[in-house]
Amino acid sequence: MTEPANPPVAFKAILAYAKPHKGTLLLGGLLATGGSIVGLAQPLAATALVDRLSNDKPLAAILIGLTALVLIGATLSALGSFVLERTAESVVRAARTQLISRILRLKVSEVERTEPGDLMARVTSDTTLLRQVTTHSMVNAFTGSITVIGSVILMAFMDLVLLSVTAIAVVTVSLSFAFVMPKIRKATTAAQAAVGDMGSSLERVLGALRTVKASGAEEREERKLAKAADEAWHQGVRVAKWGAVAGTSAWLTVQISFLAVLGVGGARVASGATDVATLVGFLLFLFYLLYPLGQLVQAVKELQVGSAAISRIQAVEDMAAEPHKELTRMVPAPGSAAVAFRDVEFAYRPELAVHHGVSFAIPSGGMTAFVGPSGAGKSTVFSLIERFYEPTAGKVLLDGKDVRDWPLADLRAAIGYVEQDAPVLSGTLRENLTFAAPQATEDEIHDVLRRTRLEALIARLPDGLETVVGHRGSRLSGGERQRVAIARALLRKPRLLLLDEATSQLDAVNELALRDVIADVASTTTVLVVAHRLSTVTMADRIIVMEAGKVRAMGSHTDLISVDALYAELAATQFLTAA
Ligand code: ATP
Repeated sequence: MTEPANPPVAFKAILAYAKPHKGTLLLGGLLATGGSIVGLAQPLAATALVDRLSNDKPLAAILIGLTALVLIGATLSALGSFVLERTAESVVRAARTQLISRILRLKVSEVERTEPGDLMARVTSDTTLLRQVTTHSMVNAFTGSITVIGSVILMAFMDLVLLSVTAIAVVTVSLSFAFVMPKIRKATTAAQAAVGDMGSSLERVLGALRTVKASGAEEREERKLAKAADEAWHQGVRVAKWGAVAGTSAWLTVQISFLAVLGVGGARVASGATDVATLVGFLLFLFYLLYPLGQLVQAVKELQVGSAAISRIQAVEDMAAEPHKELTRMVPAPGSAAVAFRDVEFAYRPELAVHHGVSFAIPSGGMTAFVGPSGAGKSTVFSLIERFYEPTAGKVLLDGKDVRDWPLADLRAAIGYVEQDAPVLSGTLRENLTFAAPQATEDEIHDVLRRTRLEALIARLPDGLETVVGHRGSRLSGGERQRVAIARALLRKPRLLLLDEATSQLDAVNELALRDVIADVASTTTVLVVAHRLSTVTMADRIIVMEAGKVRAMGSHTDLISVDALYAELAATQFLTAA
């Protein structure tokens, strides 16, 4: 769980969010303060009214004045409130877009350490908690303080003795805050963490809904989700409890001081030390203090809530991201790419090395197949070429240049990548096909559809390319998903095509057709395939046999069959049976 940020850090972050909106904040604040100041004049007008009443003077002018004050105060407050709410929404929008931009550029390794559902909760739920703290509570803290100070000064002029009675109340409120506020901060952080857990659990369930149902795990998963919901409720109730304590203590102290002032003031009026009008005015001030004190309580409470959200948002900002500036794309170089690994060592986790000095050189053009037992590190080779991860030692070279020295956008623009599980995104077929090449023309789209044997599928669908494929392409078959993924990669016109077991789910006819496509692509593009079928492997120009994070042998099928025992064994069992 993310620890709550300490108040100065949180306050600094809150100021940073509010800074771009200082103009509107000032306007909203001025309008709200104007409303408060006009309100402040009301007790004075009322005092004058009582004074006139006791001296039998005409009241019409003062009544009209009072009404005008009420109307002006209400208008200013309403305008101030609107301007502040609008600014609050702008702050939330800015926080969200900043967070979204960050999340999309996070390193793959960083995202793997988190739960996507929790990241989603931070963008959707935590940011809303900034709404109040960056605007209303800042202005409330400001106007609340001004009003309290203004009232206290005016009250001091009216009666110092009565003011000292009131001061005791204000000090008591401040002391109770110091005790209550950290509790609100802690409970909010826990509540938001529970919301994050709920997001993670939901994402987990919806991501594998068929497996959940087939495993009869609905009730277990439901209990898990309900537990997170319970925790969020529990912490929310704690926030409400401590919020109520803070609010009531402020209200109660004003009430008690009202009674005390009534008692002490009554005695002073009786003894002639002060007059009735002053006492009434003072009491009205005291009542009037209720509102700004409430504002202060609310502001401090929201600061605690906001600081809890800020610590969770800040934690994402602190995660390692890919270089943003490098992402500007240059004109791609023509021709096919050459790939080389030089003594590459890599571990997903420090204690679990995957590559132990992988070295190979693949010239530009042609097809290279990677084979080897499961877990040998074949797919990892592709991840390192795409720079999803960086080697702990050694070099990955594309066209003789270290991939770390390539601008990331250029590197990835040169590569077409078909992942092992051929992901298809929710949306239409067209969106999926043009995902890596949004500028592709109709002719280019139809050309890849023909090459990947998707034409028949499109013709069959009533909506053709505009057919919606469902969440993760759930409305397509496994083989169709793979062909869509391959078509997507081809539309990018890559200089290097990485196919991770791309043919494993195809039927015999389509696999044969796809082999032709790959052979065709390999004549102009470097193609690397993590292959499991002998039929794919035998057409490769070279085969790299990997075992336990090392390159064990390299050569053609006929060479390897005779010189490499592992390859001969793989070819005789796994490949042949699958071919
Ligand atoms: P297969 O043929 O089964 O796909 P492979 O040779 O492609 O296997 P890799 O996917 O490269 O193997 O994985 C190599 C090792 O790294 C495996 O032991 C795997 O458990 C581990 N591994 C793979 N991806 C990750 C990851 N993202 N985080 C941590 N470990 C991983």
